[in-house]
Amino acid sequence: MKHFPIFLAVEGRRIVLSGGGEAALAKLRLLMKSEARIEVFATEPAEEIVAWAGAGRLHLTRRALRAGDVGDAVLFYAADEDEGEDARTAALAEAEGALVNIVDNLEDSRFITPAIVDRDPVTVAIGTEGAAPVLARAIKRDLEERLPASLGMLARVGKAFRPLADRLPFGRPRRDFWSDYYFGAGPRPDTPEAARAALDTLLDRHLAAEARAGHVSFVGAGPGDPELLTMKARRLLHEADVVIHDRLVTPEILELARREAVLVAAGKEGFGPSVAQCDIDAMIVEHAREGHQVVRLKSGDPTVFGRLDEEIEACEAAGVGYTVVPGITAASAAVAGIGQSLTKRGRNSEVRFLTGHDVAGFADHDWRALAAPGAVAAIYMGKRAARFLQGRLMMHGADASTPVTVVENASRPDQRVLTTTLADLEPALSRAALSGPALTFLGLAPRAAAEVLHTQDLMEAAR
Ligand code: SAH
Repeated sequence: MKHFPIFLAVEGRRIVLSGGGEAALAKLRLLMKSEARIEVFATEPAEEIVAWAGAGRLHLTRRALRAGDVGDAVLFYAADEDEGEDARTAALAEAEGALVNIVDNLEDSRFITPAIVDRDPVTVAIGTEGAAPVLARAIKRDLEERLPASLGMLARVGKAFRPLADRLPFGRPRRDFWSDYYFGAGPRPDTPEAARAALDTLLDRHLAAEARAGHVSFVGAGPGDPELLTMKARRLLHEADVVIHDRLVTPEILELARREAVLVAAGKEGFGPSVAQCDIDAMIVEHAREGHQVVRLKSGDPTVFGRLDEEIEACEAAGVGYTVVPGITAASAAVAGIGQSLTKRGRNSEVRFLTGHDVAGFADHDWRALAAPGAVAAIYMGKRAARFLQGRLMMHGADASTPVTVVENASRPDQRVLTTTLADLEPALSRAALSGPALTFLGLAPRAAAEVLHTQDLMEAAR
């Protein structure tokens, strides 16, 4: 690209042109579309130029250009149709600091003028760097045909209407509305009043359709305590026609759905029986397509080990609108239950959320980093993988006395805390025979236990 296209601010600024013949006329027709102040210097101006000057569309001076005439002009056109005169006026303008174009002289011009499709405020500029003016004209013709003459007016009216259209949800619904306005079928409004009326009707139609259309909310149910629901989660649960929930979501939370709402258990639980993910995806989409308000209720936060993306993709593929409502993840609830922080100045400035197993089996991790002193990790779905984690961490040099805490049923009345060390994790975990969901912290002991250990250390040191 030897010429970089830009849109120059010319409103109220001067553009000077030297010349009064055909070349000048062609350029002036273009320039007069702009809101610049146009000044022409010509000894023999064409009739049209005289008429335009008479109509106040440009300012005409009937003599050749002289030094000082260009002054603060932003652009200068040499359209004298005479090589010598063009060179003289261009040099004058250049000396006065204007960007210079010499008509039909690409070589010596500082800028070139593109072919323009004008649907103000929509402007399409086409350039071929002088290589193929015929092509530029063909493209222009093509665009002229495709872009309705009223497009500029439509865009201006549309711009003023934007705040009203913001009543539609962000994303697809709003995009569909605008695309319907500009490219939809039906008669095209040809006056601003008709366009405005069309927008009003169209918006009503889209809002109504939006209200009728099914919608999916991916809602975080938190760790189990109903008081740890967000207010938004509570409201959506109350409004839902269908609630598709994980097995981990507690009955107390499901209680908050309306009596008439359909409750569907579609969870996956550890290694037990579960509904296939693609069936869950299909179920969500199907209910939304029937026009239902669907709440897909996921334990904790939907974005943490929740296979959220697959379900979102299913909605997107089906053109179903969705929103994501965050929830309190198990790690946050569990750490609160042991009076610790996930991060702490001087101890750990990062915390990792891991899963004990993934699609391929026990999940692999950056064991070296996890084995480092002070490392803190929240391990989800870690019960079965405990022995594997223990082995890998010890193998990578983790201290056998690293504290490990397992919090079962975090935030629920039956919450249990198992305090152990990396070396003792198994068999301690098997012995405890936890049956509820459990979160394992590597590198964290409950505050009280940490204090006991700390005092023991002090006592030992004192001995
Ligand atoms: N999206 C969920 C996690 C789903 S994976 C969240 O953000 O919490 C399921 C795992 O989360 C369980 O195997 C368990 O490790 C953990 N978990 C969920 N609820 C829990 C709870 N109340 N107490 C402890 N761990 C819990």
